[in-house]
Amino acid sequence: LFVVFEGGDGVGKSTQVELLCANLDALGIAQLRTYEPGDSEAGRQIRRIVLDPATGDLAPRAEALLYAADKAHHVSSVVLPALAAGKVVVCDRYVDSMLAYQGAGRVLDLGDVERVARWATDDLRPHLTVLLDVHPDQALTTIADKDRLEAAGADFHERARNLFLQLAAREPEHYLVLPARESRQDLAARILERVLGLLGR
Ligand code: C5P
Repeated sequence: LFVVFEGGDGVGKSTQVELLCANLDALGIAQLRTYEPGDSEAGRQIRRIVLDPATGDLAPRAEALLYAADKAHHVSSVVLPALAAGKVVVCDRYVDSMLAYQGAGRVLDLGDVERVARWATDDLRPHLTVLLDVHPDQALTTIADKDRLEAAGADFHERARNLFLQLAAREPEHYLVLPARESRQDLAARILERVLGLLGR
């Protein structure tokens, strides 16, 4: 089972990824916790290029291709092997982040970005995407040390948020959209319930 967490910066995705993995572990369900961009050897180097403020301006298409390269390598070397081993793969960010940030955020053609992302991932789609939604003003204030992307303008984050919501509305059966400001325990309980349902437990 492939479960993805999406949402803006500072909404608490990594906390919920951690809680879900801990909850699955407590039930004896094998899982792999991972993230994009960066959770592979090559990925760590790509992550450094895209996030280091020292990179300076990056042509939007170059940025999109770097994220796509990270994804392609991550899917083939990390995600697919774990799925083949029967694990629940819990991934912090995936294709929707690329559509939201490089598509809506950087204003590249969405159809183009989607085709590149689908090609990079060989069209591997999550069974469930948990979207933690909150207004960007409320999320970004919690981040003290902003990276290159987090420092982008407010309308960049606003466009990204709207796109996340549109993607969820396009295929509601594959999404669980939750208000990120709910308590972390309530969120974790709702997410676990949905995942266990998909596992038939
Ligand atoms: O979620 P995480 O903190 O690892 O994301 C790192 C940064 O990369 C964030 O600032 C996020 O906005 C950015 N990002 C992006 N495009 C993606 C994925 C992440 O701009 N496709």
